Amino acid sequence: MSRLDSFIRRMQAQRDLLDATPALIEGVEGPILELGLGNGRTYDHLRWRHPEREIFVFERQPAAHPSCVPDADHLIVGDIRDTLPRALERLPGPAALVHNDIGTGDPAINVEIAAWLADVLPRIMQHRAVIVSDQPLEHALLERLPLPGTLPAERYFLYRRL
Ligand code: SAM
Repeated sequence: MSRLDSFIRRMQAQRDLLDATPALIEGVEGPILELGLGNGRTYDHLRWRHPEREIFVFERQPAAHPSCVPDADHLIVGDIRDTLPRALERLPGPAALVHNDIGTGDPAINVEIAAWLADVLPRIMQHRAVIVSDQPLEHALLERLPLPGTLPAERYFLYRRL
């Protein structure tokens, strides 16, 4: 498989998983948290898929296309290790969905941040809320769910908060 094939498969899997989120959080109240704005592609997809939900985006260095930048009330700028623990001060309530896409090219940093996130996220999420993550997260309050359809396991991770 070429690198182009691999990239396309990764993007298709990400989109398919985000497409599954409206059904996964049906009946769970609360906003959506997007961790990592990047180019704004997944933020744009989430707001299209969840037009009725508020989406709060956490990003340390916003540089997305202007059409994909949230307004100032919904863009929380800074390192998530500073901003996320205080997130409930800005949110209308605990989150119904978290999309974690802040994985970097450095596996050691990814493991460190994933361990930190696994500890913090359950505290700011509703009961039965869902996490879509590019990194595995281990916590007693997070139940791993099977990926829908034929999505490749070990590329994305899906959790429900107990
Ligand atoms: N989902 C985005 C998209 O579809 O365009 C791509 C996100 S990109 C892979 C990861 C983003 O996470 C980058 O914009 C980076 O600046 C941000 N990021 C990485 N570590 C961060 C941290 N500790 N705190 C806040 N933002 C972080």
